Amino acid sequence: MKQGLTLDMAIVNANVITIDPKKKTAQAVGVKGDRIVAVGNNEEIRALADKKTRIVDAEGRTVLPGFHDSHMHPLLVGHFANGVVLNDVKNIPEFLQKVKEKVAKTPKGAVVLGSGWNQERMEEKRYPTRWEVDSVAPDNPVFLIHWNAHIYLINSMMMKQKGIDKDTPSPDGGEIEKNEKGEPTGILLENALNLVAPGFLETGAGLFSYEQSKAALEFAAKRAVSYGLTSMVDILAGDAQVKAYQELEREGKLPVRVNFYLGFQYLNQAVDIGLMSGFGSNKLRFAGVKMITDGSLSSHTGALKEPYADAPGNRGIMRVSKKEIKEVVLKATRNGIRVDVHAIGDRAISDVLDVFEEVQNEVKPKDPRYKISHAFIISKDMVERFKKLNVVANVQPVFIAKAQNWIPRLLGPEREKNAHVYKWLMDAGVHMACGTDSPIEPENPIMNLYTSTMRKDQNGVPPAGWHPEQKIPMEQALKMVTIEGAYATGQEDEKGSITVGKLADFVMVSDDPFRIPGDEVKDMKVLMTIVGGNVVYQKGG
Ligand SMILES: [Zn+2]
Repeated sequence: MKQGLTLDMAIVNANVITIDPKKKTAQAVGVKGDRIVAVGNNEEIRALADKKTRIVDAEGRTVLPGFHDSHMHPLLVGHFANGVVLNDVKNIPEFLQKVKEKVAKTPKGAVVLGSGWNQERMEEKRYPTRWEVDSVAPDNPVFLIHWNAHIYLINSMMMKQKGIDKDTPSPDGGEIEKNEKGEPTGILLENALNLVAPGFLETGAGLFSYEQSKAALEFAAKRAVSYGLTSMVDILAGDAQVKAYQELEREGKLPVRVNFYLGFQYLNQAVDIGLMSGFGSNKLRFAGVKMITDGSLSSHTGALKEPYADAPGNRGIMRVSKKEIKEVVLKATRNGIRVDVHAIGDRAISDVLDVFEEVQNEVKPKDPRYKISHAFIISKDMVERFKKLNVVANVQPVFIAKAQNWIPRLLGPEREKNAHVYKWLMDAGVHMACGTDSPIEPENPIMNLYTSTMRKDQNGVPPAGWHPEQKIPMEQALKMVTIEGAYATGQEDEKGSITVGKLADFVMVSDDPFRIPGDEVKDMKVLMTIVGGNVVYQKGG
């Protein structure tokens, strides 16, 4: 501790959990500018304060490093919050009622967006059809995104506007679902999205204006800090986000740190202008490019080595060939751009690991820090490959809450043991970052702490946890939402633990997750969020 140093902020009377192995706990933290300058006991830190120092008295509460979400879609968080929220509908009549209510509040002709519906959670266990949606929305184009964001339902007006009819062929890597008469049902799978709104998932293009998208990002950034997030990864950004984040930062409306990955279609442009991972500031930073290889399990589009247990012959979809994956990874790696590749099924993950291995052998990059987003289905023999290639598994434990209900049927009794295998990955020493894939699930890192340690849903089901052999300890879970999040973007020396010299990013929570029963972790509340020494969120404030 330096003599003569005057703090801008002192957090005292705290149960500080540092996530720093050299000094695991403390009572107090001192901040100067945007950095942590002292970690110690109350007396030591108070001695560095004067009357201008802002004193934050934690009153015994727990203070942690600020939370990271390593896989989010902030643009969609904002747009979805503004549309029809269909996450909890129990049947199709209820689904239609919600759409009807939104249509009543929307001008004729304007797009109605909805999200979160899931046939698995509706009594009918089938997709709604466009004709059903037409019955409540005859005069508005409607676009309703499945919970998994890989299936889309549009109504007849949207179909007509986009020129889709019974003669429109399904595109590569996608499907226009048709009924027995050959009529499109309104359901679009995977790449068929491009017929309606190409680039929507990246940029909001095709459905929303730039101003609407900027407002959506502003909303998402504000909501993120209310969940204790000090850093979020926008895993799939496009030109709208890049511009909007810059404007929001200049306008003082970006309370959270943002790392963004551009969709891989921007790779050539990025290389042409010499953009490399790490460009930007610790507030807004280019992290790399994101590539999507397969689909999702619940839509039977995740690419498996063996067919789905409930769909004979169906091994899912690879949206890109292995050759295309290699072209992107090779070009990115040669040009200092890091990649995060979406791969869910064991076949997709194997292909991506093969590519990483080949490219490492060819290019011999110093620290490519490859990431696989999701990495849901991994057999034991694949775990070692993650370690050997130092691939970060960018995982979403929060999905266990719902997916435990359909994984056994989709995979069968043997293969379901390979789903969400965090203990295996941890024991092998694999780096694991953690996200929520929000808006698929709310961007609440506390639910990731709960689901990775307990493997239960919000109601505590199943009581012993789903495949309890894969539960991980709280210490590991906390690392995944802090220091491992920083590691994933190559910023572990800058943030992710409460360590002198690092950025002053903290979250104050209602309970010590090590001391409360595991079942109560989900009820922990975020009381205060501090980014770079500034209080950006205060509960009730
Ligand atoms: Zn995602």
